[in-house]
Amino acid sequence: MSDIGPSMRAHFVKDGMKIELKPLGEVLSKSEREKVMTNPGFGKIFTEHMIMSQYDSSSGWSTPVLQPYGPLSLDPAASVLHYGQSIFEGFKAYYQQNGTIALFRPLENAKRMNQSAARLAMPSIPEDLFVSAAQALVSQDRSWVPQIRGESLYVRPLMFATEAALGVRPSSTYQFVLFASPSGSYFPKGKSFNVWLSEDYIRAAPGGTGAAKFAGNYGASLIGQKQAIDNGCDQVVWLDANEHQYLEEMSGMNICLVETNNNKICLVTPNLTGTILSGITRSSLMQISKDLGWDFSERTISVQEWKDKSISGEFSESFACGTAAVITPIREVKSKSDSWLINQGEPGPIAVRLRDYLLDIQHGVIQDSYGWLHLIP
Ligand SMILES: *Cc1c(COP(=O)(O)O)cnc(C)c1O
Repeated sequence: MSDIGPSMRAHFVKDGMKIELKPLGEVLSKSEREKVMTNPGFGKIFTEHMIMSQYDSSSGWSTPVLQPYGPLSLDPAASVLHYGQSIFEGFKAYYQQNGTIALFRPLENAKRMNQSAARLAMPSIPEDLFVSAAQALVSQDRSWVPQIRGESLYVRPLMFATEAALGVRPSSTYQFVLFASPSGSYFPKGKSFNVWLSEDYIRAAPGGTGAAKFAGNYGASLIGQKQAIDNGCDQVVWLDANEHQYLEEMSGMNICLVETNNNKICLVTPNLTGTILSGITRSSLMQISKDLGWDFSERTISVQEWKDKSISGEFSESFACGTAAVITPIREVKSKSDSWLINQGEPGPIAVRLRDYLLDIQHGVIQDSYGWLHLIP
């Protein structure tokens, strides 16, 4: 793969955004890298560089620096460790059919990171800093982008509070870090999963942080996830905080049902009430469903309706959607007192078609008519 030697580039300038490059003197050889990258799984191996920028309330964000990937050093009093101001994002770089590399909708992630930041009383990060950092890192570590369909380089930006101060108040300093991880299929093709309806715990409540990609949401979800695993399930389906009756989403993915009525197909997903994370995959499906001739509806769905219509066949399929999972069919729903199969436990054609169509766009196999792909120079 052609690339300019790292030592030859001092700066990466994109749309006026300067990124300082301090890459490793020597990177892994092709064969060493290929060895590390066999069966990457999800989020287990990391590329050789990361980007960092610091925020100070008096001077704003510092020039981002691309540097070797490695451990961070933190003051024990850093407020993130005590009071949890920490948010993140996740999106992917895909190898294109024509040999280039493209990020999928990174600007949407920049916007959502700033919405999360606002909820957590954190500073916003300039969208061009965010997107340029992702471009610079993926460009530097481009040989880590898997070339297999369905595999990708997952990009993980995060921001957390660094001020050494034990008073409970917003920090005056923050660290932004962006790194990347080659990722296989999170749920390999053909795989479906069983989901657990959580009746004991909730993920998010009105007025809370459910719509933010806030670290605490995930920490709080783990006990439900453990319960799911103990009951032979792969994921939790969270219900509304007030009545525990209405579908919300999973811990890191949205949920979507396929309603078939007189041969008319409609994708149905819970509406964004403020407790659900607004997934970019979810919004992409909303748009491509039209291309495929299907309707899309955002509305309240009760567990009772889900069960009754799954059994009658009116809800012919149910699936999870998110950047990591792409689209993964749900096989069985279980709770303390109940269980039912979706589509007799078989993955359905609509989920398979959507997944293929989305992957075709992401890998540049079909025309990107929405302008979702952001090419890496
Ligand atoms: C990240 C996430 C999603 C999916 O969002 P995408 O932008 O599609 O990856 C859904 N729900 C939760 C709770 C999430 O954290």
